[in-house]
Amino acid sequence: MADTATLVYAPLGGAGEIGMNMYLYGFGPVKSRRWIMVDCGIGFGDMETSPGVELIVPDTAFVESLGDRLEAIFITHAHEDHVGAIGRLWRKLNAPVWATRFTAEIAKRKMQEEGLSPKAVKIAEYGGRVQAGPFSVEFIPVTHSTLQCSALAIRTEKGVILHTADFKIDDDPLVGAPFDIEPFRALGREGVLAMAIDSTNVFSEGSTGSEGSLRPDIERVIRECEGAVAATSFASNVVRLKTLAEAAAACDRSVVIAGRAMRRMIEAAVDTGLLKDFPPTVPEDRASDIPDRNLFYLLTGSQGEHRAALARVAAGVHPTVSLSEGDTVLFSSRTIPGNEAEIYRLYNRLSERGVRVIDADMARIHASGHACRDELRAIYEAVKPRIALPMHGEHRHLVEHAASAKRWGADHAVVAPNGSVVALDGNRPEIVDEVETGRVYLDGSVFVGALDGVIRDRLKLARQGHVVIALVVDEEGDLLADPEVRCIGAPVDRERPLDAVIAQAVDDAMDRAGRKEKRTDAGVESVAARAARKVCFDRWGKKPVTTVIVTRLEDEED
Ligand SMILES: [Zn+2]
Ligand SMILES: [Zn+2]
Repeated sequence: MADTATLVYAPLGGAGEIGMNMYLYGFGPVKSRRWIMVDCGIGFGDMETSPGVELIVPDTAFVESLGDRLEAIFITHAHEDHVGAIGRLWRKLNAPVWATRFTAEIAKRKMQEEGLSPKAVKIAEYGGRVQAGPFSVEFIPVTHSTLQCSALAIRTEKGVILHTADFKIDDDPLVGAPFDIEPFRALGREGVLAMAIDSTNVFSEGSTGSEGSLRPDIERVIRECEGAVAATSFASNVVRLKTLAEAAAACDRSVVIAGRAMRRMIEAAVDTGLLKDFPPTVPEDRASDIPDRNLFYLLTGSQGEHRAALARVAAGVHPTVSLSEGDTVLFSSRTIPGNEAEIYRLYNRLSERGVRVIDADMARIHASGHACRDELRAIYEAVKPRIALPMHGEHRHLVEHAASAKRWGADHAVVAPNGSVVALDGNRPEIVDEVETGRVYLDGSVFVGALDGVIRDRLKLARQGHVVIALVVDEEGDLLADPEVRCIGAPVDRERPLDAVIAQAVDDAMDRAGRKEKRTDAGVESVAARAARKVCFDRWGKKPVTTVIVTRLEDEED
């Protein structure tokens, strides 16, 4: 497994999860290889695996080690899982960022939010070519679920790579041109060595259905509602927001946009001239003047995000929007794998307030932005890639997609999880190396590494509870006062409080402990922790995280 390749593909994020997309392509001998990055996205934390974490980004240690051998960063579209980390990570990457106009507008705002100059973000035109070291990159329009989405044709001396990014084949996208397969056929004629391709819907037969076909169904659903109606969708899916707003306006409802992220996205789409004729909206603070049956709210938070507008409405703490008996919430969105629990919790919160929830399983109010199997097959038939590189999927998606790719005509298909380096030139593609990869968590305002132990500790605290023991000892290690104990996240027993029982057990253990052990703080800590954990296990059936604080008072010598 020696890396003697000239052209390689190396995913750092997105090949093993749906989220935090980051893919690298390299050209040249390994020591002096030049690189480009495609996409720079984020993922979100959840209570199960990363309690308290706001968002997750790929570990970029490998890219940082490249220095100026990273030629450029290409962003395919404005979704958070593709552009979300560009502001936060740019200082470490330090390369020009290329995107089409709308995506560039979003990327610039992300740079500005981090105090960076938006000048690093450059606008690419469809059909033009951007030269980045040994790579020539062309943006090709695709339909998806936000504006100006692109596939990338990456040309090198060793062959052409097509990076489809997220796409569907939409004949009636409402905004922007219908999907045009001709550029893909042209690439097929030119010859495509490898195609990195969206795997999100590889398990879904048929096709996704167009955006335009949703409009009458959404209008019918809204017309049947009596109280206030709110709809949630991704803020970046501005076309859907427009469809929802138009359907609501057709039902005599005034549209109120609640949530900064959503307002910002619509603004960006209108500012760039891409989104026209968005129905007039009413400011949030004026909504209370309008009767419920004439109100329609657009809210962020379709994935159950705690701080988003919808979660706050469900908790009854939103400053301007309140929903109750007789009102309806439409989830015009899909559940991203991993978010199910949070979303169902939100459904139930709303239900408890008397609010009816309608989702895409109950009515045709959402069409996926990702190609289903018929659409994937059509792309394989047009492009005829020699090598398929399934991406944008969990491991099971990549495996299924690789198996299908061969049936759809690819000679080779490689399941390449995050961190693998795949040689694309040579007789057959193979994984020839691995680079450092992993996740970095944004915890509050600080980035913590997956191996820093922060998340591991937090999970332990969540599962096991915490006992703190403070001991004051003399030089010999004998207790000078009763142990002080605090239990956090432990069951309450009023008859025999756990902290008192632990204090007694620690006291006894210190009496029994040997002189030598008590002479060091580490020894004292271990005696106390053992005693506390034993008594907790006996009485509670658990071994909590135990912290022992030792204060050793020196003898006075005068
Ligand atoms: Zn995506
Ligand atoms: Zn997307």
